[in-house]
Amino acid sequence: MKIVVLVKQVPSVSDIELDPKTNNLVRIGAPSMLNPVDMHAIEAALAVKDAAGGTVTLVSMGMATAADAMRDGVAMGADGGVLVSDERMAGSDTLATGKILAEAVEKIGDVDLVFTGRQSTDGDTGQIPPAVAQRLGMSLLTYADQVSVDGDTVKIVRHNGGVETLEAKLPAVCSVTEKANAPRSATIRGKMNAKKAVFDTWRLEDLGLEASAVGKAGSATAVSGVFAPEKHAVGVMVEGADEEAAVHELIGKLVADKVL
Ligand SMILES: Cc1cc2nc3c(=O)[nH]c(=O)nc-3n(C[C@H](O)[C@H](O)[C@H](O)COP(=O)(O)OP(=O)(O)OC[C@H]3O[C@@H](n4cnc5c(N)ncnc54)[C@H](O)[C@@H]3O)c2cc1C
Repeated sequence: MKIVVLVKQVPSVSDIELDPKTNNLVRIGAPSMLNPVDMHAIEAALAVKDAAGGTVTLVSMGMATAADAMRDGVAMGADGGVLVSDERMAGSDTLATGKILAEAVEKIGDVDLVFTGRQSTDGDTGQIPPAVAQRLGMSLLTYADQVSVDGDTVKIVRHNGGVETLEAKLPAVCSVTEKANAPRSATIRGKMNAKKAVFDTWRLEDLGLEASAVGKAGSATAVSGVFAPEKHAVGVMVEGADEEAAVHELIGKLVADKVL
């Protein structure tokens, strides 16, 4: 079984800076980490490998530092990874990112199963799994709370108001949630493998893509503005000696604020 896991490096802080000119996240210099739910995607892939054999290859599109996120995956037990990194990809929206990642999976070749996280903590669109599946012509199963592979069939269970059980023939793309499993801890051997891991780095030419197909030129969307959410005043708790006193106090406050 040839398994690929798409993993993304995301900022590890909530107070990320935005470039006022481009409206993009300032990623250079920002502390970062492996997108948390991607650890569940790696675990799902390793569980399939444990049961059916094969290889688990991580693929990440991002800056050179994305290799650090891939090292976390190798420490868990992934066999290796490919970093897709090219300054001409900067500014790619989900359409362009999906195109790039699909080309990388295509170049790896004969991939049976692609696991992803359900959503990233920064972009947060959940559009990459369908974008990649559509480009590769693979079946798509999303938001899996449970995953199992039986022969050439991948089965998932997801909770979507009710309980859905879905299955698809391989090759397929499957996005998983945090409920899908408990990611295994890194072993000492895994950590040593991660430390010395060397990842191939693919640029546009390696994927046979033109510069016009990626980055801003290859994107269908543009961020027209960004703003911080409006801060609301903190509420006031009215506590009286008893309910009646509290109601009187509340009425007094509402009268004072000219609400009544
Ligand atoms: C106009 C515009 C400009 C942008 N410019 C930039 C930019 O310059 N640099 C930049 O980094 N982002 C940029 N982005 C954000 C970028 O498009 C998204 O982060 C990216 O397309 C992934 O979407 P998402 O984060 O919503 O992923 P989701 O669809 O929410 O992620 C789901 C899963 O897909 C996989 N995945 C997602 N992204 C990657 C990835 N890069 N590599 C491997 N696996 C992945 C992971 O498994 C993840 O859990 C831009 C977005 C827009 C709209």
